[in-house]
Amino acid sequence: MTMAMDSAAAVSGERSGGSDGVRGERSGGSVRREETAVRGERRRRIPHGHRPPNNISSCLFRIGSEFKFLNWNRKCYGHLRTGKRRGGTPISCSSGSSAASLPDMRVSNAHVLYCVAPAMGHNKESHPESHRRVPAIKNALEKMELTEKFRGSEVIELNFKPASVDDITSVHSRTYVSGLEKAMSKASQEGLIFIEGSGPTYATATTFQESLIAAGAGISLVDAVVEASKVNPNPPVGFALVRPPGHHAVPKGPMGFCVFGNVAVAARHVQRVHGLKRVFIIDFDVHHGNGTNDAFYEDPDIFFLSTHQDGSYPGTGKIHEVGCGRGEGTSLNLPLPGGSGDTTMRSVFDEVIAPCAQRFKPDIILVSAGYDAHVLDPLASLQFTTGTYYMLAASIKQLARELCGGRCVFFLEGGYNLESLAYSVADSFHAFLGEPSSALKFDNPAILYEEPLTKVKEAIQKIKHIHSL
Ligand SMILES: [Zn+2]
Repeated sequence: MTMAMDSAAAVSGERSGGSDGVRGERSGGSVRREETAVRGERRRRIPHGHRPPNNISSCLFRIGSEFKFLNWNRKCYGHLRTGKRRGGTPISCSSGSSAASLPDMRVSNAHVLYCVAPAMGHNKESHPESHRRVPAIKNALEKMELTEKFRGSEVIELNFKPASVDDITSVHSRTYVSGLEKAMSKASQEGLIFIEGSGPTYATATTFQESLIAAGAGISLVDAVVEASKVNPNPPVGFALVRPPGHHAVPKGPMGFCVFGNVAVAARHVQRVHGLKRVFIIDFDVHHGNGTNDAFYEDPDIFFLSTHQDGSYPGTGKIHEVGCGRGEGTSLNLPLPGGSGDTTMRSVFDEVIAPCAQRFKPDIILVSAGYDAHVLDPLASLQFTTGTYYMLAASIKQLARELCGGRCVFFLEGGYNLESLAYSVADSFHAFLGEPSSALKFDNPAILYEEPLTKVKEAIQKIKHIHSL
């Protein structure tokens, strides 16, 4: 059931492509001038010490009441938008290490840094993109002794700050972001709303704030990994265990369970703040990362490479979609036939991903890590295994070491079978740590069927021809 709502009209209307907001923005008329004025105000820098508490997910758990959580957010987010500090002592709810004090040798010498943003308030009963996903991963990490508690300085959970509105509008239109924020009062009244035309994306009273938190986790990890790479030739790999996911969210709106493009926002941040110009994004979610694709389709400095199941949602990412204008050649879309699995991805990595990255010479690699290509995932029909995800994590880490000083951050996207999601992420941690895979414990070869390798080979040959690889 989809409900239209007044307060979200700017959100849904804009996505339809016919609203005044879109036309005004494009025409450079009064709306443009108004936006520039707002932008000017919002560009004021916020000193680190004036930011809200770093680990908001911890706050959510500790306060344990949605009402208080909302009050807290109103208090703390106000100054994000104004740049002014409110009086009183900043609330502190830290539990991990802070990225703000970098370079921090303990952080720089770790093997894995991760942030946790479970978005417990952003949830809909029986929806696959549920608030049980990130806790399931955390539980698996605990069970497999892959957290800081067991690994000391090897694996560190980082504190982080929410993204600012300015961070988000480096990718998304200001009309969308403010429309979503306004829609929160409606969501607050009704408990849950659907954002019309967003195929289908729900929102609750906390969606806006928790989406800022998810994007902020990615930004903080990028900051920490980049800082670590200045003092350590083998810096830690970052993993943002966040939701809502981001790779379907288009510049003008949410889409496909995704609210803000977490990877895209981090890519713009790394260019703007760290001066790392060339960003290579690998998206191995089973679905095409159309939002990231759209954000950078004309950008020659951000290479977007997506593998996805042919014909799956949202139907974009055809093999001939290669970017346009100055960005022609810096988008690579490889649709894979249903049933593609481990053998396929090993070939794709060796013949497509690695040579493409080697030619592009990135300054950093960001990864849209979707675990819904797993054979057990309910939303699609590829046949990745825990071992496939281990291979991808290990190979991408190695690629980053060879090409860009080891700078690499993973972002959680899809993955809806809680068990395969959790253990595949945990095995990715094993790969980052340089430890053997535990896939044998979880993978059952008896459920796999033959991969369509003839079709896969044809697809690989075709993409190599199109991109002159
Ligand atoms: Zn997906």
